[in-house]
Amino acid sequence: MNATDPGLKDRLFLADTHEVINVSRELTDFNLYEQDKALQDAVQREGAAAAHESLMDFGQRIGTAEYLDLGVQANRFGPELDTHDRFGNRVDLVKFHPAYHALMTTSIENGLHSSPWTEPGPGAHVARAARFYLHSQVDAGHGCPITMTFAAVPSLRTTPALAALWEPKITARVYDPRNVPDAQKAGLTIGMAMTEKQGGSDVRANTTRAHPIGIEGPGQAYELVGHKFFVSAPMCDAFLVLAQAPGGLSCFLLPRWRPDGSKNPLQVLRLKRKMGNVSNASSETELRGALAWMVGEEGRGVRTIIEMVAMTRFDCMIGSSAGQRAAVAQALHHCSIRSAFGAVLNQQPLMRNVLADLVLEHEGSLALTMRMARAIDHRNDRHEDLLVRLVTAVGKYWICKRTPNHAYESMECIGGSGVMEDSPFPRLFRESPVNAIWEGSGNVQCLDVLRAMQKTPEVVQVYFAELAKARGANAALDRWTASLQAEFKDLSDIEYRARDIVDRMALAIQAALLVQHAPAVVADAFCASRLDDQAGGGHRNYGTLPRGVDCAAIIERATPQA
Ligand SMILES: Cc1cc2nc3c(=O)[nH]c(=O)nc-3n(C[C@H](O)[C@H](O)[C@H](O)COP(=O)(O)OP(=O)(O)OC[C@H]3O[C@@H](n4cnc5c(N)ncnc54)[C@H](O)[C@@H]3O)c2cc1C
Repeated sequence: MNATDPGLKDRLFLADTHEVINVSRELTDFNLYEQDKALQDAVQREGAAAAHESLMDFGQRIGTAEYLDLGVQANRFGPELDTHDRFGNRVDLVKFHPAYHALMTTSIENGLHSSPWTEPGPGAHVARAARFYLHSQVDAGHGCPITMTFAAVPSLRTTPALAALWEPKITARVYDPRNVPDAQKAGLTIGMAMTEKQGGSDVRANTTRAHPIGIEGPGQAYELVGHKFFVSAPMCDAFLVLAQAPGGLSCFLLPRWRPDGSKNPLQVLRLKRKMGNVSNASSETELRGALAWMVGEEGRGVRTIIEMVAMTRFDCMIGSSAGQRAAVAQALHHCSIRSAFGAVLNQQPLMRNVLADLVLEHEGSLALTMRMARAIDHRNDRHEDLLVRLVTAVGKYWICKRTPNHAYESMECIGGSGVMEDSPFPRLFRESPVNAIWEGSGNVQCLDVLRAMQKTPEVVQVYFAELAKARGANAALDRWTASLQAEFKDLSDIEYRARDIVDRMALAIQAALLVQHAPAVVADAFCASRLDDQAGGGHRNYGTLPRGVDCAAIIERATPQA
């Protein structure tokens, strides 16, 4: 610095261009569980009150700035595939950022992949759902192998000999990402390979063949030849795979390594270049005589793997409810700080209408998800079992499908900065359609609802019995239910009308749950905005709540205090 330069002081002053004021700050260092009243209420109500303290600890741990950054890193530095090592040996090795491994470690050490199987009992699925929901808000992508590992257990149990061998390590709370044979590991992860190029939803079109090596039948060894067009988390230790056996489409357990320590030829051709779900690796593969053991009965592959699919669909409900919470929490936080035209955004009538409406969406999603968790906890009760059969498809369809627009509208609450890559919203937005598309896309879910009704007509009575628990509490809901009942009397064109019916079923059961259990301000606003038959019913853009809604109370209940 030249002390004799007379203009220096003025020039430095001019360089000080402006003060940074009226801007938001990161939503970090808060307890994700404690700040989520809707979740706390649901955990209590649906039978997992005993998990409250451990959920408090978990929510605190994963809400630190340092921990939340793991999700950012795992998505910024996505997985990379090495098909071969530098010497030319085939390795099929996917390398992940350390943040991904840290997230996997947390999930597995906390039993997100297994706790209801290792510690069954009242509230087991509810507690696990709450934990999975919280951790999904840090990163959704790594949840894919966690879900598949969790969901594989019911399918594997159809073949007790295989379950006895594999289940202890699948459910162990040990994460071991090494690319070594399963015999050398204390904990294993499981993937799922159904989809082929010529057909994903219609797995009957699968062309991958399974050739028996010796004796045929459940638990016996086969060699699989063919391809799978989508195999997520290809570093899993084994996969449940569908292939055509001599007796028809069957389910198989296919390990990455053969028992003799050689590589099993499930070869990874490339990783998909996905718009979202970046931390998770999804691959295209070929099977070149890969060893696998038959799970369940020959020719009953869909029946066997559907046990797994039912659980993965439920996790889609949890994951999308979590996506909604993550998005609306960011919007609420921002709008509690930022002012425009002389007032904080969350004090302005129109923004209140938008925020409260976004909160209502999430309240409905979470209430339905946690009710299903309770039903899964009580599948020995026929009512609960049939509810799972029907309403998982309803909820998977509706909650996942509502999430992209919810993410977008939450992004708009932030304004221009929400669009920037260093905001959380591009990740939330790009993740938002994935749950709707995989594990049975929207139409497939609606057709599954119809299938459940045709195969087991009792599910319809069970569904309406569930709605009847809220009868008389809200006139709009009563009218909505009556009109839905009338709909079921006319089954013509039912496939064409399936989305219309399932939309209405979803809104009715969400409303019925909120009417029974949520604060009246929430339940009344939900019914008034979604079930108003005079306005045509359904829901339009966010921010169209009718007059008389106590938006301030709805917003206050949901706003996280960081
Ligand atoms: C990120 C990602 C990861 C994935 N990971 C895996 C994995 O690990 N393992 C795996 O097996 N798969 C995986 N999948 C594949 C996924 O499950 C399929 O993409 C999905 O099941 C749909 O199959 P498809 O893509 O062949 O579409 P299609 O089956 O061709 O469906 C196309 C559209 O047609 C609709 N449709 C289908 N049938 C009907 C009908 N009868 N009436 C009306 N509409 C209909 C569907 O709803 C869909 O909208 C993954 C997908 C994604 C996006």
